[in-house]
Amino acid sequence: MLMPLLPGYACSEYLMRPESVIRPEIRALSAYHVADAKGFIKLDAMENPWPLPDAVAMEIAEACAHVQVNRYPDSEASELAARIRQVMSIPQHAGLLLGNGSDELIQMLAMACAKPGAAILGVEPSFVMYRMISVFCNMRYVGVPLEEDFSLNEVSMLETMEKEQPSLVFIAFPNNPTGNLFEPGLLKRIIAAAPGLVVIDEAYYPFAGTTAMDWLDEFDNLLVMRTVSKLGLAGLRLGYLTGPVAVISEINKVRLPYNINALTQVAGQIALAHHAVFDAQAREICSMRESMFSDLASMEELEAYPSQANFILIRHEHASDIFDGLKKRGVLVKNLDGAHPMLTGCLRITVGQQNENLILIRHLKELIHL
Ligand code: PMP
Repeated sequence: MLMPLLPGYACSEYLMRPESVIRPEIRALSAYHVADAKGFIKLDAMENPWPLPDAVAMEIAEACAHVQVNRYPDSEASELAARIRQVMSIPQHAGLLLGNGSDELIQMLAMACAKPGAAILGVEPSFVMYRMISVFCNMRYVGVPLEEDFSLNEVSMLETMEKEQPSLVFIAFPNNPTGNLFEPGLLKRIIAAAPGLVVIDEAYYPFAGTTAMDWLDEFDNLLVMRTVSKLGLAGLRLGYLTGPVAVISEINKVRLPYNINALTQVAGQIALAHHAVFDAQAREICSMRESMFSDLASMEELEAYPSQANFILIRHEHASDIFDGLKKRGVLVKNLDGAHPMLTGCLRITVGQQNENLILIRHLKELIHL
């Protein structure tokens, strides 16, 4: 409600107090913080470090120029969905739902499952949006701690599922921010035992060389979620969810119409027609990850965790000082020190271009020896 401010009246008499309407659990949250990365070597957000190749960019620009932005987009994004089915080898009989990033798919899943008292189960530490979106949607969040080496604890997963009866289980495979894959046999036992839906979040699939997509035939409660963000298209905001048609069609009911905008539909289709370019880049990122890992592992003062994603988690007792030091030297990584008890002293470093990685390693070595 906007009230005119009359001379002589204190503003507070006119301002509505957010606490009178906003839910306390929302007021207790901090908004998702995105660091200002202008001018930095940007190794904080698991992006592909290369811009689009010129030829692909020109093809997209040309096609976007002809998009009728005065019209609403295709609500089903049919052509883009068909391209994703073809390029990502989605089983023909599986359902497919597109989201404005996979973040939006997590939100749709939660909205559709948020019965009073219903729970989301995640492992800890993992992707923070599972917990945040549980709060947004008024769901209980249950976190099951990983082992010290970040592997799954089968007994506590099974016991907690039995006790809490979660409607949704989210497992990032590979996990963010730890970078590891979980043992597939164990994952299957969890899916088989789960009382509700299990979402295997394959955001880092391009770098992992393994997928749960092949298991869709075995389970009627399994959903596989992916994104094009890490592949090289983070700016488009496009994620996809696949699984049994009966489940996907229910989740689709909470999707807002036109959630995939017209420019993303066109750009996504064209970019994915050139998926070989991104696949080759992903292979190069994996090889740079391995050389970055051996550089990091050779630094005795820090611990580096093996990764099957496009980032590496490291631990050092003065992580926050190192983070500040890197920032002063123009390198932005993600500081996770304090984000979770199991991440004390941790920084997450995204694999960048080769020269960026070398600069990072050089500064890191200097800072550790300061
Ligand atoms: N899942 C995981 C495990 C992630 O790490 C991320 C992004 N950091 C996402 C989902 C969300 O990706 P997006 O919304 O860009 O598709």
